[in-house]
Amino acid sequence: MRCDEFKPMLTGYLDGELTPERSAELEAHLAACEACRRELAELTGLKEELAMMKFKEPPDVELERYWRSVYNRLERGLGWILLSVGAIIVLCYGAFQLIEEMIKDPRVAVLLKVGVVALVFGAVILFVSLLRERLAVRKVDKYSKEVER
Ligand SMILES: [Zn+2]
Repeated sequence: MRCDEFKPMLTGYLDGELTPERSAELEAHLAACEACRRELAELTGLKEELAMMKFKEPPDVELERYWRSVYNRLERGLGWILLSVGAIIVLCYGAFQLIEEMIKDPRVAVLLKVGVVALVFGAVILFVSLLRERLAVRKVDKYSKEVER
């Protein structure tokens, strides 16, 4: 057999995929052939490099980073939800208290009462709308980051 016939067998030999007879044939040829020995050495080096690249970053680190990012997202998501719920409760409670007092007070003009009610509800609606916008932006950010990766 000539070198051309042995060369395609080299990768299989490295991966241990050859039959014992074929391995023996190849080994006999390698013992006699300098060129094929050099090629085998090159392939071995390439294989080691590939293995090093694969294990450059231990899987543990990758996994840990993944869970940390999931935790951060959950934490911030929860933070935003609590903040918005709390803010809405406080704002509504304060608004109703204020409105109740004003409406009970006969000295305050009806037009002013209407104005204050509109103002307070407007503020609550704006606040909720801003929070929702903020949450939507966060979702988009998360998505674009995932695309980046
Ligand atoms: Zn050869």
